[in-house]
Amino acid sequence: MPKYDDNNIFAKILRGEIPNQTVYENDYVLAFYDISKLAPVHILVIPKGRYISMTDFTTSATDKEIIELYRAIGQIVKDNNLDKDGYRTITNSGDHGGQEVPHLHIHILGGRKLKSCVDNI
Ligand code: AMP
Repeated sequence: MPKYDDNNIFAKILRGEIPNQTVYENDYVLAFYDISKLAPVHILVIPKGRYISMTDFTTSATDKEIIELYRAIGQIVKDNNLDKDGYRTITNSGDHGGQEVPHLHIHILGGRKLKSCVDNI
């Protein structure tokens, strides 16, 4: 497992060094609008802990952190009225997965019918 980079952009957001448009926050999770949205609703959900990827999170995070992240996703979906028409969650991991920021993040995309191809959201 690579070492967590404290200079990644989401670490800076968590430290308050870079602004974000917060949509949800608790002791374990921060969610904010993606700066370059791919759908009418495009939210990023991140754990506050220093986790690089889904692999890192699911093998190293506490049960509480894992529960809180997934509960938060459900709440954010409801808060943004995405449940009725549907939405997509995506987590890119590593080079082949297309991960650009090395702090675990879950994309929540919705507000229109998304294309089915994974290479063309
Ligand atoms: P990924 O390719 O899965 O690592 O996604 C990284 C996402 O972070 C991209 O969708 C970017 O648009 C988004 N992003 C990068 N910088 C910021 C920022 N400062 N605020 C919000 N979203 C960002």
